[in-house]
Amino acid sequence: MQSAAGKTGRSRPLEFSGRLNRAGRSEMAELIRYFLEEASPEEISDLAFCAETLREKYYGKSVYFRGLIEFSSYCKNDCYYCGLQRSNSKARRYRLSEEEIVGRCALGRRLGFRTFVLQSGEDMYFTDERLCRIVSRIKTLFPDCAVTLSIGERSRDSYRRLYDAGADRYLLRHETADEAHYRKLHAPEMSLRNRMQCLYDLKEIGYQVGAGFMVDSPYQTCETLAEDFLFLRELQPEMVGIGPFIPHKDTRFADYYHPAAERTVILLALVRCLLPKVLLPATTALGTIDPFGREKGFRAGANVVMPNLSPPERRREYSLYDHKICTGDEAAECFQRLAGRIRKAGFVPDFSRGDPAGWRPRARRN
Ligand code: SAH
Repeated sequence: MQSAAGKTGRSRPLEFSGRLNRAGRSEMAELIRYFLEEASPEEISDLAFCAETLREKYYGKSVYFRGLIEFSSYCKNDCYYCGLQRSNSKARRYRLSEEEIVGRCALGRRLGFRTFVLQSGEDMYFTDERLCRIVSRIKTLFPDCAVTLSIGERSRDSYRRLYDAGADRYLLRHETADEAHYRKLHAPEMSLRNRMQCLYDLKEIGYQVGAGFMVDSPYQTCETLAEDFLFLRELQPEMVGIGPFIPHKDTRFADYYHPAAERTVILLALVRCLLPKVLLPATTALGTIDPFGREKGFRAGANVVMPNLSPPERRREYSLYDHKICTGDEAAECFQRLAGRIRKAGFVPDFSRGDPAGWRPRARRN
């Protein structure tokens, strides 16, 4: 096998990025396999160096804060890995009222946040009409803030209306870009084709779009990961969400093994090298499996965190996976502590909107 310098070209991050951007299916799978299974600690630190250099070129040392509001735990889908799946009869279901959602944004705005991420299961109670009203209220009250939606698959028309109501960004992880893998993780009525179409629709409408996948989800292989990388390269999303899969006790994957943070960290670095301008969160799931998971993520090219702004009494009920961190803390304490840790790790907490480098907004219909 080639030396580390041959793989990443320590002093030449751009060249390594170029290599990932040209790699075919089998070379991509081999690079991923090499870094996950064979690379020495020096080679992995070379990879992290490449990722950090590329992140710094566009974003410096900034780590962008987004306030996450988990506004409904109802879901009509059956994603077999997720604690919120409809067939989990033990899941506690709640929905925040419109006032509560806007109220959590107001709290976030006072704390300094300039981005709110509204996330939920696929809850049909939240019609276009209700959601558009919520989005436009938030945008009217806080015109300097960005609104990100993460509410699953909807029609193109619905995405269009929400965009026209003021939504700026949309997170919809593709979960896996390999058809057979997708089938093993989702109910038969769900389809990878539809999920990918949603991402293309969102992009075309003008949203900043986030795709992504879990690391070490059941049946994942280096080949399915290579498909993920090829898909990300084709889609060119502005954001990529990747975090470790963590088993949930009331799902069929309850006994699946717990992954090591290092594998997510390596994949974060590879994604940064593939898409140098991407906004890349160090996820709560990464902080859950390793007390220093998020710091490790920043040192490998991640540059976003999404502290929880949901009402503390609801956090435990939004249970995608077991043992989620920060489920008891008051929002203010939790994010102050996180900001302190980020500074300590040598990065700069950044509360601006944090748009992608070079982003030019598209006109909206109003
Ligand atoms: N309904 C929205 C939000 C889903 S939850 C949607 O469909 O996009 C957000 C993300 O959590 C999912 O995309 C999935 O990748 C992740 N997730 C779900 N279950 C998980 C688990 N057990 N471990 C880690 N991440 C999980």
